[in-house]
This record gives sequence, C-alpha cells and structure tokens, in this order.
Amino acid sequence: VLNDITEKKRAEQELRYLANFDTLTGLPNRALLSERLARAIVRARRHDTMVAVLFLDLDRFKEINDSKGHAIGDLALAEAARRFLGATRKEETLARLGGDEFVLIAEGADHRAAALIAARLLQSLSEPLVLMGMPHTIGTSIGIAFYPNDGRTSEELIKHTDIAMYRAKAGGGGYRFYQAEMSTELEKHLDIAQRLGPALEAGQLQLYYQPKIRLATGELLGAEALLRWQDPELGWISPAVFIPVAEQRGMMSRLGDWVLRESCHQLKQWRTEGIAMPGRLSVNVSARQIEDPEVLGRMLEIVHAAGAAPHWLELELTESSMMGNPEHSVEILGLLAAAGFGLSIDDFGTGYSSLSYLKRFSADEIKIDISFVRNMLNDKNDYAIVNAIIAMAHSLGMSTTAEGVELEGQAEALHGMGCDVGQGYLFGRPEAAGVFADKWLRAQCR
Ligand code: C2E
Ligand code: MG
Ligand code: MG
Repeated sequence: VLNDITEKKRAEQELRYLANFDTLTGLPNRALLSERLARAIVRARRHDTMVAVLFLDLDRFKEINDSKGHAIGDLALAEAARRFLGATRKEETLARLGGDEFVLIAEGADHRAAALIAARLLQSLSEPLVLMGMPHTIGTSIGIAFYPNDGRTSEELIKHTDIAMYRAKAGGGGYRFYQAEMSTELEKHLDIAQRLGPALEAGQLQLYYQPKIRLATGELLGAEALLRWQDPELGWISPAVFIPVAEQRGMMSRLGDWVLRESCHQLKQWRTEGIAMPGRLSVNVSARQIEDPEVLGRMLEIVHAAGAAPHWLELELTESSMMGNPEHSVEILGLLAAAGFGLSIDDFGTGYSSLSYLKRFSADEIKIDISFVRNMLNDKNDYAIVNAIIAMAHSLGMSTTAEGVELEGQAEALHGMGCDVGQGYLFGRPEAAGVFADKWLRAQCR
C-alpha cells in the first residue's frame, strides 16, 4: 500500500513537471511563465512597482540547426539556456517560450536595472558555445518592456517585448526598450508582408534597369536590375522598405529567386531580339539568400532553366551582409565565383570589413557607397576615402564602380582617380525594360 502511494505521487509529480517545465532545458515553459508573470503583475499592482520583461531570441541559431542538424541544435539550446541561467539571479524567472526564444521576468527592475540584466545575458554568450567539441559563435537579441507603462497584461507585455526584440535584431543584435511607435511600424510591416506574396503572384513586381557606364569612354558596360513594386492602394513602395520586411518574414528566398529568373529571361530575350546587353547584368542578392546552404544549386538551376549562363550576371552583395558571417561568405562566394558568376561588393565603406577578408571574398568589383560619392566634391574626408577605396581595390585586383553619380564634376573627379565605372542619375535613372532597351540597347545598334 505504501509503495502504491509513492508510485502515484511520483507519477503526479512527473506530470506536473511535464506540464510546467521544458524537458530540453529544464526551464519553466510557456504555461508556467504566464502564471508567474500574471502573479508578478498582481504583486506589482498592489505595491505600485514595476516588472521588467526581457524577450531573448538567439541570433544565428537557425544556421546551426539547418547546417549541423537538430541534435546539435538541441545541444546549442541547452547550452545557451545554461549560460542564461548562470547570468540570472534567484529572484528572477527565466523561461523557454519555445524554439530559440527565452523570457526573463525581473520584478521591481527599472530601465537601468533591466539594461544591466540585458548586458549580463549578452555577456554570457560572449564565449563561443562548444558543441561536440566544435566552437560555435552565437548571439542573442533582446527586447524589453515594463509593467505598467508598456502593457498591463502578460500577453500584451510579451507581445511588446517581441516587437522590441525584432528591432534589436534588425539593428544587428543587443537590446532595445519597447516604444509605442514600434507597434505602428510593425503594423505597417505586417501590412506590407501580407501584400508582398500576392503581389509577386499577380505580377505587380517589376525589374527596372539602370545603366553602368565606363568612365573613360562613356560607353555602356552593363546595368543593375532594381526591384520596383506598385501596390494598387499603397502606391510605389521602395525596395529599401520592402526588402528588409521580406528578409525578416522569411520571404527573401522566394523574392530573390524571382529576381534572378526575371533577370535571366530579360537577358535571354534581348539576345533573341539581337540587342544583347554589353557587359553583365548586376543582380542584388540578400544576406538571407546566401545563408541557404543550397544557394548555389538553386541559382544554377534558375539560370540554366532560363537558357542563360552565370557569366551573364554579376551578383551584388552588400559589404555589411557579408560581414555578418564572414567565414561562411568566403566559402559561398568562392563557390559562386567558381561557377562563373561575377561578384560585386555593394555599398562598400559602410560595412567595416577587414582587409584580410576583402582579399578572400573572390569579388571582381567594389561599389563605392553613394554616401561617399554624394559629398566627395565638398568634403575632403569623403574625397580621400573614395580615392583610398579605388587604390585599394585596384591593388587587390578588383575594379571599382561609383554609385549615385549625379554631377559632371563627380564623374570627372572619379575618372581622374582611376575609378572604372559610374552609375547614377547623371547617366541614367533605373527604367522599365522596354525604355531601357530603347535608350541604351537599340540606340547602340543604330
Ligand atoms: P543598391 O543596390 O545600392 O542600389 C542603388 C540604389 O541607388 C537604387 O535605389 C538606385 O535607384 C539608387 N540610385 C542610383 N543612382 C542614383 C543617384 O544618382 N542618386 C540617388 N540619390 N540614388 C541613386 P533603389 O532602387 O531604391 O534600391 C535601394 C536598395 O534596395 C538597393 O540598393 C538594394 O540594396 C535593394 N534592392 C533593390 N532591388 C533589389 C533586389 O532585387 N534584391 C535585393 N536583395 N535587394 C534589392
Ligand atoms: Mg546594388
Ligand atoms: Mg549600393
């Protein structure tokens, strides 16, 4: 009889554990978190104090999980949880919400205290995680919200920390406090995200083409394909707005595939019409696209299916996107170059790449960021930077393109510095395929 009861008790305890704790990390789960947060809110209301809620989402976890498999992914989660727990005080609650998301509750914490907690959590991941003997660098982005100012229920608070976390992630990690404006911005983002998929299906997206000009001779030396989207209600939406949304919402690979396919079809069609474009067509590629380990196969399939060839194209990757995970970039860029694609480092000068990586990026071209070109005639520093970038690129065997050339004086100065190619309103704005062909391709044949 005695045995029976112990057995039953044990089973009961086990059930309670399973209902309230996460088996992988041993941390409280979503259910227990909600309960504890609700209780913390009641206490705070009674004593007129604050509750800080911190939402953590691991950076680069998906990469590890996708490339190394779920077993290693699980190890990473367990180890990250152990680090976070080590950085958590007794009176704080750390829970796993699911996936690679964690929440910490700190009763009585104000902005200053919450910032210190966030710093402790970030610091806990500063050393790489060692998984099956291999080091993996992982980070976390943290959103912070407070009871009562940012929300009065646990659902509202968690939702707002999630929004702030997204902003932290978009800004490259670290922590962010929730602000009411973030919600309106998020609504706009969701609106754009919901319209983008159907717009792609409905053929509302288009590529525009902007000429690239050899500065020494003024001749056409290629073009850049730039996305354009006109929504029936919202009007023109800039790629600078919708590309980041597509990246955040996991829609970038679909969109990127479409851009590449459309570019290849256009090049093929111009050839068929006997007005082949000289040089290569530059196509922008997002960091999200090269995170996919299958990216090379995927791109080659699209190019070949369209009857095009990799050497017709130059892939533009921004400097900052490559520096997110430079070792991975070196590897993927090497594969893309070996397959025949031209490679260009876009927006150069804004991404803090190191010279040692630059040498290993297998790029053919550097595009000098518009911000330096814009002021180069009146700002001595920008002038010196442009000059230095050109000299450095040439010494590494890469050619240079200056973007955003609007003035004759800029084109002359750039040419004087040895810059190879110019792109900007001075030569031509991005235009629809038909207009571009009339102005640049047919004119040339005449
Ligand atoms: P980006 O690749 O650096 O493209 C150059 C941007 O500068 C384009 O803006 C172009 O219209 C603009 N521009 C060109 N000449 C001038 C000039 O003389 N003066 C000024 N003020 N601007 C000039 P756009 O088309 O709005 O594109 C913005 C960014 O969106 C692009 O920057 C690129 O990062 C991204 N993007 C555009 N299309 C695609 C795409 O198909 N895929 C991806 N992943 N990103 C794209
Ligand atoms: Mg570009
Ligand atoms: Mg650029």
